[in-house]
Amino acid sequence: MTSPTVASLTVVCGPMFAGKTTELQRRIALAAASGARVLVVKPARDHRYSPSHIVTHTGTRVAAQPVATLDEVARTEADLVAIDEIHFFARDAVAPIDALRARGVAIVVAGCDLDHFGEIFTPFDELLPRATEVVRLRGTCARCGAPSTHSERLVATTDRIIVGGATEFVATCAACFRPSRR
Ligand SMILES: [Zn+2]
Repeated sequence: MTSPTVASLTVVCGPMFAGKTTELQRRIALAAASGARVLVVKPARDHRYSPSHIVTHTGTRVAAQPVATLDEVARTEADLVAIDEIHFFARDAVAPIDALRARGVAIVVAGCDLDHFGEIFTPFDELLPRATEVVRLRGTCARCGAPSTHSERLVATTDRIIVGGATEFVATCAACFRPSRR
């Protein structure tokens, strides 16, 4: 008797400008090259560069389906679902990912594991213990050049989720990080 298997969950995380989307695109290309059916999704609210692609900060593009919630892809026939900017889905990401994995659909997600308050970004508190693989990337601290771990908001806000790029954020190390004030 075989026991039911739960498909893999790969979590790619780290601060902004650490190469998370590039790593996600690499995983997508590897899976597609091995013959897997890959569905790429992104939060519909992320319109920074393109509504229908995931785009790295350096401009590399992969076609992606924009969704308001991950329930929209619950019936996918894909072998692998790749999700960029997973933190935009917050807690609502968790149950759909569990359900897809139970159906045998592998998942790879990318996003910021720490918010601009320096606190763990939901849903990473729930995804990291579930992960079969964690890739925590670091970039370069904008102030001292050490490896970066944090994403610092340059403009004051109390909103936790902000769609932004290089004019709104810098990546820093823990020592240089100045958390947003509530
Ligand atoms: Zn630093």
